[in-house]
Amino acid sequence: MVRGRTQELVRNAELYHRRFEKSSAPANPRTGVAVVTCIDARLNIYGMLGLAEGDAHIIRNAGGVITDDVVRSLAASQHLTGTSEIMLIMHDGCRMRTITDDEFADKLQAASGFRPGWPPAGFTDPAQELRRAMDALRHNPFLLNSTRISGFIYNERTGNLRELELDTLLTQPGPTAPVVGVVDSAVDLGS
Ligand code: ZN
Repeated sequence: MVRGRTQELVRNAELYHRRFEKSSAPANPRTGVAVVTCIDARLNIYGMLGLAEGDAHIIRNAGGVITDDVVRSLAASQHLTGTSEIMLIMHDGCRMRTITDDEFADKLQAASGFRPGWPPAGFTDPAQELRRAMDALRHNPFLLNSTRISGFIYNERTGNLRELELDTLLTQPGPTAPVVGVVDSAVDLGS
C-alpha cells in the first residue's frame, strides 16, 4: 500500500494512464541528445529545452556531476540507442555547492554510523566543474570519438540558460583508462 505524498502522485499516474494515447515515441531519442543535469526539482528540463517523450535522454544526479554511473548511462545511450551529442547542465543555486565533501561525509556518518565509500562530489564553482566534466568526457574511451559535448549553467531564479563555451568535437580517444571526473574533482577542488 502506497502512503504519504507518493499516494497523490500514484493517483496522478492513474489519471495519466486513463488519458494516455498509444505512444509513438521512439526508443532511440529523436534529437540524438543526452542531457546530464542535477536532480534539483527547480530544473524542468523538458520545459526548458522544449522536449517531449522520445526526444532525449535525461541523466540526473546530485550536482549533475560525472560519475561512473553517468558514464555507464552515456555509453548505453550512445552505443545502444544512437545518441551522439551530450549537453551538461549545472546550475547557479546548486545545493552541492553549499557543503564540502568532508562535511557531507561527516553528516552521513553521524546519521548512519558509516562513511560513504563513494565520493560525495561537492563543488564550489559550477563553471570549473563543468570544464572538468567536459574534459573527462572528451577523453573517455567508452564514448564515441565524434561526440559533441556542450556545457551550460542555468539560473533557477531567472530561467536563463547560458552556454559555458562552444561545442567541443571529440577528436582524440582516451589515452589509457577511463577518466572519472568526479574523483578528480573531489581531490582537486580544495586546492
Ligand atoms: Zn543542483
